[in-house]
Amino acid sequence: MIDHSPTRELSVIGSREGIQSLVDALAGQGYRVLGPTMKDGAIVYDDVASVDDFPAGWTDRQDAGRYQLERRGDAALFGFAVGPHSWKRFLHPPVEGLFTAHEGDDGVVTFSPAAEMPRKLAFIGVRSCELHAIQVQDRVFSGGPCVDQGYASRRQDAFIVAVNCGQAGGTCFCVSMQTGPAVESGFDLALTELPQDFGGALVVETGSTAGAALLEGIPHQPATDAQMAAAQAVVAHTAGQMGRSMQTDGIRNLLLDNPHHPRWAEVADRCLSCGNCTMVCPTCFCTTVEDHSDLSGNTAGRIRSWDSCFTLDFSYIHGGSVRQTRQSRYRQWLTHKLASWIDQFGTSGCVGCGRCITWCPVGIDITAEVAALRAAPDTARHGEDDGGA
Ligand code: SF4
Ligand code: SF4
Repeated sequence: MIDHSPTRELSVIGSREGIQSLVDALAGQGYRVLGPTMKDGAIVYDDVASVDDFPAGWTDRQDAGRYQLERRGDAALFGFAVGPHSWKRFLHPPVEGLFTAHEGDDGVVTFSPAAEMPRKLAFIGVRSCELHAIQVQDRVFSGGPCVDQGYASRRQDAFIVAVNCGQAGGTCFCVSMQTGPAVESGFDLALTELPQDFGGALVVETGSTAGAALLEGIPHQPATDAQMAAAQAVVAHTAGQMGRSMQTDGIRNLLLDNPHHPRWAEVADRCLSCGNCTMVCPTCFCTTVEDHSDLSGNTAGRIRSWDSCFTLDFSYIHGGSVRQTRQSRYRQWLTHKLASWIDQFGTSGCVGCGRCITWCPVGIDITAEVAALRAAPDTARHGEDDGGA
């Protein structure tokens, strides 16, 4: 178990050599080291063994339904916003075995728990909105009376290297959701990449005893006043660059008071019910469970995989699906995310990362949908049945 007790100390490491030392130190402690890499035209999180795996000099251009990588004019290692992956895929994997059952020759059935992930995880490049998303999922998976043991053990052992964003994406709105862009807590180390006139050096803040201990093994110097001021300026500049905004005052009641708003039908005309928004969302957590057996019929297993409230099957109960229409499914997603999530878990289910906007194939924009509801509140509170609960 790693020691996450808070500490605060500011140092500076070199850009490329500092990241290489960080990767080496984490790997040397037995971590599976994960960070941003380029794959299939996007920046995604995957195993990293070298600073050369990082997308140096690349950035992303994002808008509703659009994502494109472009060259920057420098060699920044973290000069991009969030991509289609979130750290959810490692803490709450898309497919996870739950158990297997085997019937022996004597007819006795034995049950075995699924194998755990073999190595503890280290994440390099966790943004502030993503730290908040992890904290949201902590409440879901381990904040109540039923603790998901697999999640809890992966989370407890995870080493988090956060990054203060140096550039907001075109669909980011963390400032509106009060989840960024500055990382504040919940990390072991936090990096701020300084502009090229500072040689691209990285200011490192320790956030835990484990982070401070790891930093001891990496060449570093105390941060100067000029470097600390530059780091603060980076975050302040990013806060002023948000591609989107969302007015959150009274948002819970706005959603709950408008179940029959005509806007739900308008969005349903565009929505494909593909579920992309839920797959890329770092807080969505819904799953389905399937049993399977081998051809001999002697061995069976149960797996849990990500599911989406946009599928018809998701709300299937005896006799049919509760939410028959796209309208009811989009409304369910948005109302849970921004309203009933607050009742359930004490926070919004949205951290303003913008992924659902970027990766929606038809460019449906959560901020625009909320603005539309707000601009013309409930005109049809007692309106016609919309074909779904
Ligand atoms: S709802 Fe959209 S913007 Fe909010 S956290 Fe999920 S993916 Fe990000
Ligand atoms: S809102 Fe967009 S991403 Fe989500 S289900 Fe509809 S079409 Fe797919």
